[in-house]
Amino acid sequence: MSFIEVRNLQKSFGPLEVLKDISFDVEKNDVLAIIGPSGSGKSTMLRSLIQLEQVGGGSILVDGDYLVNNGVYANPADSKRINGKMGMVFQQFNLFPHLTVKQNLELAPKLVKKEKAKEYSERAVELLEKVGLAAKQDELPSRLSGGQKQRVAIARALMMNPEILLFDEPTSALDPQLTKEVLHVMKNLAEEHMTMIVVTHEMEFASNVANRVIFMADGMIVESGSPDEVFNTPKQLRTKEFLNYEMNE
Ligand code: ADP
Ligand code: MG
Repeated sequence: MSFIEVRNLQKSFGPLEVLKDISFDVEKNDVLAIIGPSGSGKSTMLRSLIQLEQVGGGSILVDGDYLVNNGVYANPADSKRINGKMGMVFQQFNLFPHLTVKQNLELAPKLVKKEKAKEYSERAVELLEKVGLAAKQDELPSRLSGGQKQRVAIARALMMNPEILLFDEPTSALDPQLTKEVLHVMKNLAEEHMTMIVVTHEMEFASNVANRVIFMADGMIVESGSPDEVFNTPKQLRTKEFLNYEMNE
C-alpha cells in the first residue's frame, strides 16, 4: 500500500475538464515533483488532495483511508482526520497579516485545542529556528521579505506534524536569491525524509532533490519516472518540447 493512492481522478469546472483520469501513487519519504505548463491542472490536482477542490470522480486514498471512494467523499469526521495528515504551502504564502509570525504558527493548534499553549508555543519557536527565523517571531508578515514569508509558511505547515507536505509553486513569487533560501529549507526537509509533493518550475530542484517526477499537460499525466528518466531520456514529444522551453527560459 502506498501512502497516497490517486485513482482515475476527474474534475471539471462547468464544461471545462481540468483533470482527466489522473492516477498516481506517493510512497512515504517520496519527494514527488510535478511539472508542466500553466493551466494543465497541477494546482487543481494538489488542492483536490486536501479537499480545497471537490472532485467529480475517482478515488483518493491517504494512508489506507479513502478521502474519496469512486467520487463519494468520506464523512466529515473522517475527512478532517485524513486532511490533518497533510499540510500545504501556497505560492502567495497566505499568512494572516494581522498576526505576528509566531501567532501565525500557533493559530491552528490553538483552534484545535488538543495541547497546552506552552507546548505549541515551544514548537513554534523550534520550527522558526529550523527555518532560520526565530529572531522574527514577533514581527508582522508585512515586515518580512517574500522568502522569509514563505519560510514562515513552511514552518506553519509543519506545526500540526503533517505526514506529507504539499507545495504549490512555492518559489514562483520570489526572485532568484529568495528562491534559493526557500529551496534550501525544502531540501533540508527532504533530507529529513519528509514526504513531499512539489509543483514547481524549478527544474534543478526537481532533478536534484525529487526522487520522482510527473509531467502533466492538459489535465493528464503525460509522463512520469525518475528525474533521470524524465529529464534525460523523456519518451513523449510533449515532455521534450516542455523541457526545451523551460531550459531556454
Ligand atoms: P496549473 O496549476 O497547472 O496552472 P490549474 O489547476 O490552476 O492549472 O488550472 C487548470 C485549468 O482550470 C485552467 O484552465 C484554469 O483556468 C481552470 N480553473 C482553475 N480553477 C478554476 C476555477 N475555480 N473556476 C474555473 N476554472 C478554473
Ligand atoms: Mg497552478
